[in-house]
Amino acid sequence: MPASAPTPCLRPYRPRAAEHTVLHQVVRLHLATFLRVAEEAGGVPAFVERELRQFLTCGVWAKGFARFRCDACHAERLVPFSCKARAVCPSCGGRRMAERAAHLVDHVLPAVPMRQWVLSLPFRLRYVLAFDHALCRKVLAVHVRALRAFYRRRARRQGIADGETGAVTAIQRWGSALNLNVHFHTLALDGVFQSDADGDLRFVPASPPTPQEIARLVATIARRVATLLRRHGLTLGGDEPADDADSQADAGALAALAAASVTGRSLLGAAPGARVGRVGRTTTAAIAKAASPWHARAADFDLHGGRTVRAEDRRTLERLCHYLLRPPLAQDRLELLPDGRVGLTLAHPWADGTSVLVFGGVEFLEKLAVLIPKPRVNLVLYHGILGARARRRAAAVAQVVPPEATRPTSVAPVSQETAAPPERRPSRRGWLWADLMRRVFEIDVLACDCGARLRFLATIEDPPVVQRILRHLGLPTDTPVSALARPPPRDDLAFAFPA
Ligand SMILES: [Zn+2]
Ligand SMILES: [Zn+2]
Repeated sequence: MPASAPTPCLRPYRPRAAEHTVLHQVVRLHLATFLRVAEEAGGVPAFVERELRQFLTCGVWAKGFARFRCDACHAERLVPFSCKARAVCPSCGGRRMAERAAHLVDHVLPAVPMRQWVLSLPFRLRYVLAFDHALCRKVLAVHVRALRAFYRRRARRQGIADGETGAVTAIQRWGSALNLNVHFHTLALDGVFQSDADGDLRFVPASPPTPQEIARLVATIARRVATLLRRHGLTLGGDEPADDADSQADAGALAALAAASVTGRSLLGAAPGARVGRVGRTTTAAIAKAASPWHARAADFDLHGGRTVRAEDRRTLERLCHYLLRPPLAQDRLELLPDGRVGLTLAHPWADGTSVLVFGGVEFLEKLAVLIPKPRVNLVLYHGILGARARRRAAAVAQVVPPEATRPTSVAPVSQETAAPPERRPSRRGWLWADLMRRVFEIDVLACDCGARLRFLATIEDPPVVQRILRHLGLPTDTPVSALARPPPRDDLAFAFPA
């Protein structure tokens, strides 16, 4: 679409100056060095480099923007494009999270009690599953099958023969330390649907699981996963990841970086093989973890099942969905330290007192690179009555409460900076982006100062036109470029923080 000359009242809308964030600075500064050092160690797959480079263009004016106009007062607004990176970009990850959570709450999850089941896996398995998505889905299927059987058994005790639960699982690939930690967050209908005489679906809630039942569940899962792995010629012995050459053949250096990440070490940083630096750690464990009746452990598998949401509490459900679908990095937890290293504040201090992790620049990129999923790998999966091919799925999802009645009305306001720019093209469902900003952050990006609504006009992508408009408006016309590769990091800075 040709762009007409901009009017003088054209105002840019910029949710966040991406190139001024700590993350952007770190990636810009260290990407070239990281890629060179990684190259020497076997190289990283193209999709990893692509995502890191894409991130550097997120919200950059020179890459183009969308244009909105108010028909009442003729004011215009420009919004730069986002990068759509899957793991690296907190802003795009935040928007994807909000979009998917809204979809789950409005269109998928019936208004019934829900329970979150979190399954964490032995170290070795985390590493194997990071590369083998097909096997990852099989392990997840074992977990969900055990949960479904658990709910069916309880239903049979209540005299229900054909009860079926359903679940949605987010496969999270990372832990709080930016470490590789493949684990499952499964949101299950906390009970079963039963068909009544007329063929209508009726939900029968389950009573809470006992500690013994959770212990039996995790033991069953551990045993069945071990059987599954044996069929694939794998065992779970030892904490150190071993080489499984088949699935990692294309990964180059990424396999070694992943193995290091799983055990909290780094390979390409100042001190290869060293543990990630920690601040606040004490030798005496200060914070003892309280034993939970909702937690059980078997053969290094951990199962937590304590988090529940009431049927009518759709707002809490949406927040829980955000938690399931959140991106690995929260922008506000990163800081650039005076010596150039990167500090990551933990959301919850560890049992040993550690509150901040410290990474060198290349080391930080090493951690990020491992978390980037392969393109087209689906990390949100449905099972049971919510499964794509389930016979009664339509009837179950029809039981979502009408969104009008439940849409959050007073979400805590979040600063405009949290908002993400729109995607390159308006979504087919209209400007979902603007709806989301309003729903999650209470920002109405399409409200004109005159009180009327802005209307989407065009996307401007033609470089000469982009440049002309940016110059006219006095906006930056350059694209941030990554710094040149420097000599590999030395260990003279290594982990000076008190151990
Ligand atoms: Zn107006
Ligand atoms: Zn982005």
